[in-house]
Amino acid sequence: MFTTRDGTPWEPSYLTEIKGEKCIGCGRCYKVCARDVMILMAVNEDDELVACGEDDDEEFERKLMVMTNPGNCIGCGACARVCPKDCQVFTDASAIAA
Ligand code: SF4
Ligand code: SF4
Repeated sequence: MFTTRDGTPWEPSYLTEIKGEKCIGCGRCYKVCARDVMILMAVNEDDELVACGEDDDEEFERKLMVMTNPGNCIGCGACARVCPKDCQVFTDASAIAA
C-alpha cells in the first residue's frame, strides 16, 4: 500500500524500458532524471552498442538512451514528460513486487 504525503492512495510506476528503436538520443530524459537511471550510448558502424560522449556525433550511426541503473528509479515520470518520441514504458510498483 502506497500513499501520498496526505495519505491518499497512490502507486508509483517505475521506468522498466526505454524503446531503443524509437529513441533519437536527444538526451532530454537524461537531463531531467535525478536518479542516475540511464546513460546515453551509441551504435557504431558495426552495429555495436558503445559508450559515447556528447561531442562524438559524427563517429556514430546513431545514439540512444539505455537504462543502466533501473533499480534507482523512483517513478517520478519526468523522463516521459520530456521525451519527444514516447519511448518510456512504466510498470506499476505492485506488478514489479509481485
Ligand atoms: S521516472 Fe524519474 S527517476 Fe525514473 S527514470 Fe524517469 S526521470 Fe528517472
Ligand atoms: S528523451 Fe526520449 S528520444 Fe530523447 S534520449 Fe530520452 S528516450 Fe531517447
